[in-house]
Amino acid sequence: MNGVCVPGFDRLLDFMETGWQGNGSEIIYGVWPDFRLAYFNEGWVRFARENGGAPWLMSPECLGRSVLEVTTPELRPFYRELFTRAITTVTARPYSISHEYECSSAEIYRKFAMLLFRLKGGQGLLIANSLVVEMPHTVRGTVPVEPSANSAPYHNEHELVIQCAACRRIRHQQLEGRWDWIPAWVSQPPERTSHGLCDLCMSYYYPAKG
Ligand SMILES: [Zn+2]
Repeated sequence: MNGVCVPGFDRLLDFMETGWQGNGSEIIYGVWPDFRLAYFNEGWVRFARENGGAPWLMSPECLGRSVLEVTTPELRPFYRELFTRAITTVTARPYSISHEYECSSAEIYRKFAMLLFRLKGGQGLLIANSLVVEMPHTVRGTVPVEPSANSAPYHNEHELVIQCAACRRIRHQQLEGRWDWIPAWVSQPPERTSHGLCDLCMSYYYPAKG
């Protein structure tokens, strides 16, 4: 099997259809019903490396840790609910739930699709992530903002910059509801950066509260 698996979890995977490991570009991991990591593939390691993940994330050391630990706190309640729903939802499809999310770099807009497979009566969950959209932000019509001239509009009363934990836009402190795309701060966030969710991401992840 491609990847690293804890003893016992592999028996939950033997019923998956041939080819579930994809073409090698997918990021695939498996969790127990309490969200502890039980399996990860090469794609997981590659993604962690390319996105500056901590060294323990790329080694078997991460097995047994909750995947919610590596989720941004702002989205933790969402993923806790999504994983719980995927483990408890029985469907006719091979996967129980799908979810799309943005994971962009400074230059490139990226959208991923996550498929959640309920394993053997809910004894575990296999989560497969594949890239569905990749293009430069400018092609999508996103207007990048260069903050170097005057970054004051982005600092709140505590001199903090607020970044959306999901789409990584920066809150404009003087224009209500405006969040700007500042590539330089995606590559290297200012020292005093705090996180929140922009209105659009709030309504996507938490529609009831949005
Ligand atoms: Zn956002």
